[in-house]
Amino acid sequence: MILSIPTLQFTDFVVFLTCGVVLGCCWLLRRDKVHHLFFGASFLVCAVMSVWFVDFGRYGSVWSPLGWSTAGMLFWVGLRLFDGRPAMTRYMAIFAVLPTGVHVVLDLAGFGAEAINTGSTIAYAVHEAAVAAYVLSTGTGQSPIRKVIGGSLAMIGVVICLPLLPVSIWSPEVPIVSIFVVDQVSSILLTTAILALEAEKAHAALARQALHDPLTGALNRAGLMRTTETDDRASGVVVVDLDHFKRINDRYGHAAGDHVLVRFAKRAESILPVGGRLARFGGEEFVMILPGHDRIASTLFAERLRLTVSRMPIDWNGDVIRLSVSVGVAWADRGISVPAAVEQADKAMYAAKANGRDQVRVA
Ligand code: GH3
Ligand code: MG
Ligand code: MG
Repeated sequence: MILSIPTLQFTDFVVFLTCGVVLGCCWLLRRDKVHHLFFGASFLVCAVMSVWFVDFGRYGSVWSPLGWSTAGMLFWVGLRLFDGRPAMTRYMAIFAVLPTGVHVVLDLAGFGAEAINTGSTIAYAVHEAAVAAYVLSTGTGQSPIRKVIGGSLAMIGVVICLPLLPVSIWSPEVPIVSIFVVDQVSSILLTTAILALEAEKAHAALARQALHDPLTGALNRAGLMRTTETDDRASGVVVVDLDHFKRINDRYGHAAGDHVLVRFAKRAESILPVGGRLARFGGEEFVMILPGHDRIASTLFAERLRLTVSRMPIDWNGDVIRLSVSVGVAWADRGISVPAAVEQADKAMYAAKANGRDQVRVA
């Protein structure tokens, strides 16, 4: 197989353009996902560069480092926006201007084309390495997709330095051909990886939605049960129901009721022991799991929760809403499953209601 440079240059252009168009279309379909615009723009700049710079690999003019580092920076900004971070930082700006800056400074200092080329190529490789380091060091849980992106960027950084090595070890075309091949492979890898990253994010958001209550952010029933699959320690189980909650809705409105639910959940979460979980089972009823808590520790926690809530005035448009809770406590261990313990704690909670509310009852 003969990989002629004009053919590779043409396919380079086609691959860059295709990747740019695909990502640009993603942005047109969902304008709020601005990162796609940056990714698409990055590839379109590469497409322009691949046509314009027929001296590819030799980096004769200042437009070369300027164009390639602009493409690299657009890609980096896209990644940061995808991660929900500010688009730019001061240290990114340094990497952005580094390749062009090195070119200009060496040129002004009177260095020859070879030295200028070497300097700006190394600066661009450093820029690519910085983007790769960013991708590999950020993101929750380090998905293997990020490793593909980081690896592709690092590969570009390495291959663009090949023309700087002594020509005697291979034919002069080898580094140029390598750059083209790596360019095209990495463009396809990067584009598919970005789309896969997007799908992974959407899937994680869906999984989170399925296991959490959208109003308070606490777990829902399914979410709580899921956590018990991996934690089979003996646990205290606490069922909490807000007292006379309907009156709050009736007096201050549904939005106030929602606000109270959110404030309660935040406060309850803030006093949860390490490993403890809070779930909203529906309406104004919550369940808490306290791993490793025995009868006394769970009852003390429940009493602390009741007191904390009763001393928590909730401000609503200038009004102060006061809250109390009725609490039932039970235990789950090898003999009693969590759902069975929840049922017992629920009965205890209803006993607390029947006994006048704002109190703790133990099953
Ligand atoms: P008790 O002390 O006996 O528990 O009385 P209660 O008023 O708290 O209980 P009840 O079951 O009579 O009323 C619960 C109310 O909670 C009725 C329902 O409209 C309201 N509610 C349920 N879910 C939500 C919600 O997500 N937001 C708001 N604002 N209200 C809710
Ligand atoms: Mg209630
Ligand atoms: Mg209720």
